[in-house]
Amino acid sequence: MHDIIRLLPDSVANQIAAGEVIQRPASAAKELLENAIDAGATLIKLVIKDSGKTLIQVVDNGCGMSMTDARMSFERHATSKIKTASDLFAIKTMGFRGEALASIAAIAQIELKTKRVEDELGSQIIIEGSKVIDQKPTQCANGTSIAIKNLFFNVPARRNFLKSNQVETRHIIDEFTRVSMVNPLVSFTMHHNEKAIFQLNNSTLKQRISGLLGANFSQRLIPVEQDTESIKINGFIGKPEFARKTRGEQFFFANNRFIKHPYLHHSIDAAFQELLPKDTFPSYFIFIEVDPKTIDINIHPTKTEVNFQDSKVLYAILRAAVRQSLGKFSITPTLDFDVEQSLDFTDPPKGKIINPPKITTDPTYNPFDTQTRKDSKHFSKSKTTNWESLYADQVQIAKPDKLTTEDNDLQKNIDSNEESQKEVGEIINEKIFQFKNRYIVTVVSSGLMIIDQNLAHERILFERFSNLFENEKASSQQELFPETLSFSASDAEILNDIKDELSIIGFAIKPMSKNTFVITGRPADLTDFNLRDTLEGIIENYRKNLLDINLNKKINLAKSMAANVAIEAGTLLKKEEINAMVDALFACKAPTVSPSGKAIFNIISMEEIAKKFN
Ligand code: ADP
Ligand code: MG
Repeated sequence: MHDIIRLLPDSVANQIAAGEVIQRPASAAKELLENAIDAGATLIKLVIKDSGKTLIQVVDNGCGMSMTDARMSFERHATSKIKTASDLFAIKTMGFRGEALASIAAIAQIELKTKRVEDELGSQIIIEGSKVIDQKPTQCANGTSIAIKNLFFNVPARRNFLKSNQVETRHIIDEFTRVSMVNPLVSFTMHHNEKAIFQLNNSTLKQRISGLLGANFSQRLIPVEQDTESIKINGFIGKPEFARKTRGEQFFFANNRFIKHPYLHHSIDAAFQELLPKDTFPSYFIFIEVDPKTIDINIHPTKTEVNFQDSKVLYAILRAAVRQSLGKFSITPTLDFDVEQSLDFTDPPKGKIINPPKITTDPTYNPFDTQTRKDSKHFSKSKTTNWESLYADQVQIAKPDKLTTEDNDLQKNIDSNEESQKEVGEIINEKIFQFKNRYIVTVVSSGLMIIDQNLAHERILFERFSNLFENEKASSQQELFPETLSFSASDAEILNDIKDELSIIGFAIKPMSKNTFVITGRPADLTDFNLRDTLEGIIENYRKNLLDINLNKKINLAKSMAANVAIEAGTLLKKEEINAMVDALFACKAPTVSPSGKAIFNIISMEEIAKKFN
């Protein structure tokens, strides 16, 4: 028998190792950005093409490398960042495993140019699949430029695993955001296919957050600070009223490293307790500094989990710090959405004669009167259903005849709701009222129907916007005083991308300079909103929806628009608005589910009600 165990050739070993370190273009971008930070750069440029699939380049003005170091940097376990095992417990740099460049070199074509200040000439190295193709002195700027071309060119299987361009770009932007947020004193730029996505000058943390996430962020932030002997916490939390429905802007950094930490996340959630509307998430940007000895970051480079020695103490300190900030900025007092209009179900005093409630209706109110309907700011009646059909013996819930892709997705939900649809039966009478400024309640033949006003309006608007995209052009109302708005580079990029579609809906948006726009018109029937907040909301939503690869641009926009201009829970509605909403809802193709897939209404059946009295 022959001996059969062999050492893998370096190139194969490197390729295997690379699979663990570099999973996608974003992982390579992260490694390069972190190396530039470690090199002490004050200016870092990230350039990508085709979502990093053909090019990821990072140019920095950091310390540069000597010719020998430049060559060494591609060897596995070659690092300048630790020398002895004890260094491992005092790590202040981003990298230390000496794996990143070796890994990237195994699976891409790399062009490195680097020069130290003290050297006359720099060095250039070209490597392909771990093989040095060329190495020579060259004239170049101080600092380092690394271009990674055709990532995974020799590992087609991995290349095929990459997601859509939008998803991969999003991942790169996430990494860029994390690195640049924790280094506000460093200037950063990011370009994608020659377009500027971010241009961030060295600044304060607050300005950096706004530069990354949108200019309006600076008014939304409350500082958090806590200094104890062992733990230092600083950063910002978002004011509760700006809490998002999606888990968006939540950042923890430990010793300048982005981390995920569900336990600490919970401590912030706990601090926000009661202050947030249901199903919303607070924003936070929290920087924790602890003695490197008390934190285990000797972890895999792609992992973001860390272990703190004293996580219980940290939990308590963090919660206290956040609560203190919320208190100091007097956010803690009542955030009562629904004092008005609430129905009081407390027991009547003993012996008191209870009069049956009287329902008063407005005898002058005429739902057919279009004049009154005009008063209603939030709705315009575009569909054919009228009041008669709503109160007719049988509520006709329009069956979708032509389903959009979106509605196809929702068909499942609709089907499962079919039962309840049938059971809706007739709406008995006009006793429709708003409950807790949040729900619309009405009596139907099978019981009590409770409609979520926010979700209902979202559905109505979504269908209206989708319709507009398909067919017509909405009327636009000229702004009396056109507003000039500036956006962050990334927001401006998206706005430029969607402004034509927004014009179909009625927005008139003209670019002025790179990140500045003049808004000369807004949808005629949707005048009651803050322009800046809404546009930023739409952009933010749109950006998040980009992750959903099946969503086409128009549906994404219709969704984002609807989510942002739909009336919120907590809005008091006039009687005619309530009626108009119910009317419009049941004229929708899919009145049962919101665009995000939630049930719009529920019916409490007679049986359920009867059971309560048994
Ligand atoms: P690590 O960062 O874990 O040390 P890398 O493979 O990322 O490992 O980099 C290897 C070495 O190459 C680094 O330790 C550093 O000395 C050098 N290096 C990498 N990128 C740069 C850069 N942009 N500027 C200066 N030196 C760099
Ligand atoms: Mg590194």
